[in-house]
Amino acid sequence: MHLTDPLTLLFFVLGLVLGSFGNVLIERLPKNKKVSGRSKCPECKKQISNVDLIPVLSYILLQGKCRNCSEKISIQYPLVELGSGILFVIALLITPASVFSAIFLAVILWLMLIMSVIDFKTHTIPDALNISFVILAILYSYVTGYIPILAPLIAAGFFFAQWRISAGKWVGSGDIILAAGIGFLLGNWEYVLVMLGVSYIAGSLVALPLLLFKKKGKKEHLAFGPFLAIGTLVVLIWGDQILRILI
Ligand SMILES: [Zn+2]
Repeated sequence: MHLTDPLTLLFFVLGLVLGSFGNVLIERLPKNKKVSGRSKCPECKKQISNVDLIPVLSYILLQGKCRNCSEKISIQYPLVELGSGILFVIALLITPASVFSAIFLAVILWLMLIMSVIDFKTHTIPDALNISFVILAILYSYVTGYIPILAPLIAAGFFFAQWRISAGKWVGSGDIILAAGIGFLLGNWEYVLVMLGVSYIAGSLVALPLLLFKKKGKKEHLAFGPFLAIGTLVVLIWGDQILRILI
């Protein structure tokens, strides 16, 4: 496996293109807008031409501005496209045995990216995405081995307990569904524990400076979905190495 392999490049380009579609979901799903239909500039409402819809490249060529009204285009667009491209390559690198499993995993990681960005922006994850994620994770575990029971139970149970104790203040119900999906994806409970550890470390690294500099009050909570996604990605890539150090 080499980064300049035609297959790696193909995965990267596929990821960029799906990332572009991901931006459409990020913009429209939380507002309950139709997912189909051409993209328009949110400022001048002019339909965006095909030449300006090339992932990442169009943003660079347009210098981050709408061709018609020069309104700034959010950096979210190229970042999600690039992130999606990188996730597709990572999926290929960690599942080299089968291109089918790699594509499957790539789509699951792409979905996690989209859910994370929506959670970050709106503090909620659309059920349609969350439930699709759980179903895909169950199918993925079935295709690549067996459907685990303990891992999703522990992951979802951990968030369900917090949700019950705090009456939904510490975590959202979306976190419970997301965690169940992650449990199916990771497959064993040791990985789930490492994923939780990494997620909380990543969360504190971001939350502590925000609290110290009073950017966020104690009562406002940080969306946890993105940190669960980071923890999951770290375990998928380095899970075995981390477990070997810990045990
Ligand atoms: Zn415009």
